[in-house]
Amino acid sequence: MDEGGFIEKTEKAADLIAMHVELGHVIRIVSHRDADGITAAAILAGAVARRGGKFQLSIVKQLSDDVVKELASERRKIYVFSDLGSGSMRLIAKYLEDATVVVADHHPPEMEGFKRDEHLLVNPVPFGANSVRDLSGSGVTYFIATALDRRNKEFAYVALVGAVGDMQEIDGRFHGMNLRIIEDGRKLEIVEIRKELRLFGRESRPLRQMLAYATNPEIPGITGDERKAIEWLRARGFDPDSHYWQLREEEKRKLHDHLVLHMIKNRASKEAIDRLIGDVVVSPKYPEGDVRHEAREFATLLNATGRLNAGTFGVAICLGDEGAYKRALKMLDDYKKEQIEARKFITQNWGTVEELRHAYVFYAGGNIRDTLTGIAANMAINSGLADQDKPVIVFADSSDGDGMVKGSARTTERALRKGYHLGKALKTVAEKLGGEGGGHAIAAGIRIPRDKIGEFSKMIDEILEEQRRGMTDEDRG
Ligand code: C5P
Ligand code: C5P
Ligand code: C5P
Ligand code: ZN
Repeated sequence: MDEGGFIEKTEKAADLIAMHVELGHVIRIVSHRDADGITAAAILAGAVARRGGKFQLSIVKQLSDDVVKELASERRKIYVFSDLGSGSMRLIAKYLEDATVVVADHHPPEMEGFKRDEHLLVNPVPFGANSVRDLSGSGVTYFIATALDRRNKEFAYVALVGAVGDMQEIDGRFHGMNLRIIEDGRKLEIVEIRKELRLFGRESRPLRQMLAYATNPEIPGITGDERKAIEWLRARGFDPDSHYWQLREEEKRKLHDHLVLHMIKNRASKEAIDRLIGDVVVSPKYPEGDVRHEAREFATLLNATGRLNAGTFGVAICLGDEGAYKRALKMLDDYKKEQIEARKFITQNWGTVEELRHAYVFYAGGNIRDTLTGIAANMAINSGLADQDKPVIVFADSSDGDGMVKGSARTTERALRKGYHLGKALKTVAEKLGGEGGGHAIAAGIRIPRDKIGEFSKMIDEILEEQRRGMTDEDRG
């Protein structure tokens, strides 16, 4: 990718923000509700504060017509969107015509850039980046922040927490511009990369839960079954109640070997085995055993706050608020349990899935929370319920009680080689069905009226068929 070209954009964005701080304007930050969005917002807020500026911050689910209209009615001089906005460029251009706007994002943008000079897109995708591997939303704001002030390199760890929240290292290692952030963090001695077990729970969970909660990859026969995990660990000489971080190096290696052997014996895929052990990001800024010490646990904690509409709480945690951290720990427990419940539900009810030629459509009603549909779709793929070559779309009733359903589509690199682009597909269908949708090629989301699910299935199958036939060659990107 053209990193120089991208860095130029981050410098322009930094100039715009600095100028508005200078003028005493409030920097209006709007960010996405997941770990990546929360860390992105925290980095922006921290950078503005360091410069002595004022900011106001909101964490939102999505940028709909209504949300952008409402933001416009605040009549701010400058808006900075992070981890969202690239799919809403027309809306932004329309409603925020008179304001300065920076969109700091990594989703495939609907246009290469804005028409007006006051509107700036800072996105690595037009420079050749892969949106789900090379840089996350938090990474984009990290480069803007470091362009503002080099001391903002102290946010390198927070930026990587966002990257891990988005699963940018899902294949076991980091790529693209994420590597630069790692370098910065290493130099400051606030980031360390280890080759370890890439499962949630390294710090705060006993081994029995670390294994039973494993969904990415799954551990055959053990995921979802804590009793089996205990038995398995005992039989191999491990204390099921000890924590991964407490193990000595040779014990870790022994555990890795046993797990890999178990995966091979149970015919796990090569991809699953490859991603079991790999890059794990830790920060010596926090003590061992602290959720914030390791990026995956930290990210999951932030996702837990976002889900409960407490995203600004998550921002406070990223900026070092100890009280917010302690209070959020309870949210993490419930969140992780709910994920395992969601897995149970989808496993037990997979018989009701609608299997199309090019996708599975699973409707969970009120049984899976609308913030867990993405995780549920990945679970259907990782657990082997779904054929790896076919995208999975999981719908759940919207928690807003507005008769809408929230859908998440997920798939694999292998399926993408057939030409699918889920973000483009969902955007097209949503526009036809009176909803909103979009996202990356491999992971995308949609909201539509509940009574349109039938129509949705027909339309998505047709669009995926077209993508596959390469009728629109540009869709192969
Ligand atoms: O909105 P945002 O870009 O932050 O989220 C990216 C989404 O893509 C996350 O939900 C992440 O888990 C998902 N993802 C995925 N498979 C990948 C990479 C990302 O499901 N290989
Ligand atoms: O995919 P999404 O970003 O919504 O995932 C949210 C969180 O859940 C991430 O921290 C991810 O690592 C975790 N996750 C998981 N198991 C999955 C999918 C996601 O633990 N199968
Ligand atoms: O909501 P969900 O986690 O399923 O979204 C998957 C990906 O699609 C995320 O990166 C999200 O930001 C993106 N998305 C989008 N536009 C939408 C809905 C989701 O860009 N309308
Ligand atoms: Zn993101």
